[in-house]
Amino acid sequence: MNKIQGFYNIESNGKEYLCKLRGILKRSDKRENCTVGDYVVFDEDGFITEVKPRKNLLRRPLVANIDFGVIQFAAKDPAIDYEKINILILNSLYNKINPVLIINKVDLLSEDELKEIKNNLEYLSKIEIPVFYISTYENIGIEELTEFLKDRVTAFGGPSGVGKSSILNLLQDSRELKTGETSKRLRAGKHTTRDSRLLTLPTGGFVIDTPGFSSVDLPPTEDAQELISLFPEFNLGEGCKFNNCVHINEPQCGIKKAVEDGIIPKERYEFFKRCYEKSKNEIWNRYK
Ligand code: GDP
Ligand code: ZN
Repeated sequence: MNKIQGFYNIESNGKEYLCKLRGILKRSDKRENCTVGDYVVFDEDGFITEVKPRKNLLRRPLVANIDFGVIQFAAKDPAIDYEKINILILNSLYNKINPVLIINKVDLLSEDELKEIKNNLEYLSKIEIPVFYISTYENIGIEELTEFLKDRVTAFGGPSGVGKSSILNLLQDSRELKTGETSKRLRAGKHTTRDSRLLTLPTGGFVIDTPGFSSVDLPPTEDAQELISLFPEFNLGEGCKFNNCVHINEPQCGIKKAVEDGIIPKERYEFFKRCYEKSKNEIWNRYK
């Protein structure tokens, strides 16, 4: 497939079509109008007439409808950073990207040290966030991860030095998807973004190496209830006396009770309180 500026490769029922954007979609001249991963409607004349609503949009590189956002850390060297992990998970949920956690370099840990990390991260299983414990050196966990990522579009992010390149190298086919090429598995797509780093997986699917995923700012929520919505386990409890409870100072708070009863880990609640205070002081008053 040649790369031709302004054309979009679309895969539909096993066939490829080369289409252009209809004028009306182009008018605002935004890069974001139609991008890799978009589901589109096109007509017989080869014009895209509609871009379907997206479940999410990654901006660097520009890719729509990502299945998973991998947050990668190392168990050691550099040390695991639970605060950053939690903040990145909040951002992922805020952006409607399903978070997945990878802890690499588990070969550097003793059995007890690994047990401690697993223990600290156990709460993630309750909110259905998968965690993969990996060693690229000893080939631990790679097979499970490969199986998990099969046929999916996954963005990888994390601080440097955690072994992201090592994992991506192990996972990917040696071939890099060139601009203008399209894959049978991605239903519709435009491959014109120059910084797009879509790496094909031999099992089908893509991984995206993303530099813009390591931000450690809190998501720009509008209010306490929006922040609370990013803590899935806070919506499982028995409820609170006040239905607008923010779980800080209110009496008969179901969340504080769940913490006392050991259902929600204390560290997790303390993290929530830090997010609440910081958002209140630095983010929410912007909207007033
Ligand atoms: P990136 O900056 O996240 O892309 O990390 P690299 O893939 O460049 O790896 C950073 C360093 O960690 C390199 O020295 C790798 O050899 C090392 N590394 C990668 N994976 C592992 C692992 O599973 N175990 C150990 N002990 N070191 C690893
Ligand atoms: Zn409450």
